[in-house]
Amino acid sequence: MLVSAKEMLNKARQGKYAVGQFNINNLEWTKAILLTAQENNSPVILGVSEGAAKYMGGFDTVVGMVNGLLKGLNTTVPVALHIDHGSYDGAIKAMEAGFSSIMFDGSHYPFEENIAKTKEIVELAHSKGISVEAEVGSIGGEEDGVVGAGEVADPQECKAISELGIDFLAAGIGNIHGKYPENWTGLNFEVLGKINEATGDMPLVLHGGSGIPEEMIKEAISLGVAKINVNTECQVVFAEATRKYIEEGKDLQGKGFDPRKLLAPGVEAIQACVKEKMELFGSINQA
Ligand SMILES: [Zn+2]
Repeated sequence: MLVSAKEMLNKARQGKYAVGQFNINNLEWTKAILLTAQENNSPVILGVSEGAAKYMGGFDTVVGMVNGLLKGLNTTVPVALHIDHGSYDGAIKAMEAGFSSIMFDGSHYPFEENIAKTKEIVELAHSKGISVEAEVGSIGGEEDGVVGAGEVADPQECKAISELGIDFLAAGIGNIHGKYPENWTGLNFEVLGKINEATGDMPLVLHGGSGIPEEMIKEAISLGVAKINVNTECQVVFAEATRKYIEEGKDLQGKGFDPRKLLAPGVEAIQACVKEKMELFGSINQA
C-alpha cells in the first residue's frame, strides 16, 4: 500500500540520512526501483512529472501500475507515489487519482501567490492524508519543459512557506536539473545552513541529485536535506546499457529482439544505480 512521504522523511531527517526520489517512466523503471528498495530494505519515493504521467497514459494508469506492482512483487517497504513539480491543477488531479504525495511547484508565481496556492493545496492534501512538498526559488536547468534560472532561495521566504503546514521543502541552493555543466560552482552550503536554521525541523529536498559529488551530498544531508531527487542518472545508465546490447548485436541473436531480453540490461543498470544512491544517501535498512 502506498504511504505518504511525511513519516519516512521526518524519520530520515532525524536519523541524518536521505530517502531517494527516483523518477519513473514506464513499467520497467518502476519495477527496477521497487525491487531494489525491497532488496535493500529501504524506503523509496517514486517521482512522476506531469510529462511522464501523460506519457504513461495519465495519472490513473500510473496509480494502477504502481499499486499492482506493490501487490504483485510483495513490496513491504514504505513507498510513496509523488507528483514531481506539479502544477496547481496537476497536483489536484494526481491527488484524485490516488497519489500519496504531491509537490506543488509554485516557484514561478509571485511569492504571495505561491503562498496562497500552496496553502489551498496543503489543506486539500492533508484532508486526504497526502504529504506536500513546496518549492521556493526555482531550481536551474530544465524542469519538464520549464527552464529555471537556478536561483538561490531566500531563507525568509523558505521560513514563510514552511509555516504553511507543508511536509517538506525544496529550495534552490545552486542545484540544477539534468547534467551539471563543467563550470558549475557547486552547492551553496551557506544558504542551505540559513534555510535549515530558518525552517526548524522541516525535511529539505535536494532536486537535481544526478551528478552532485558525494561529499556535497553528505554535507547537504548533514544540513537537513532528507529527500534527494534522482532522474537523469537512471536515464543515462539505461540508455548506455541498451545501446551496448544493440551494438553487440545481441538483438540479432536468437530471440534477442524480445523486449523482455532487450530491456533487461537497462533494468539491471537502473537497479545498480538506485542501489548506489541508496548506499550514498544512507537509506538502506531504514524501512
Ligand atoms: Zn526538480
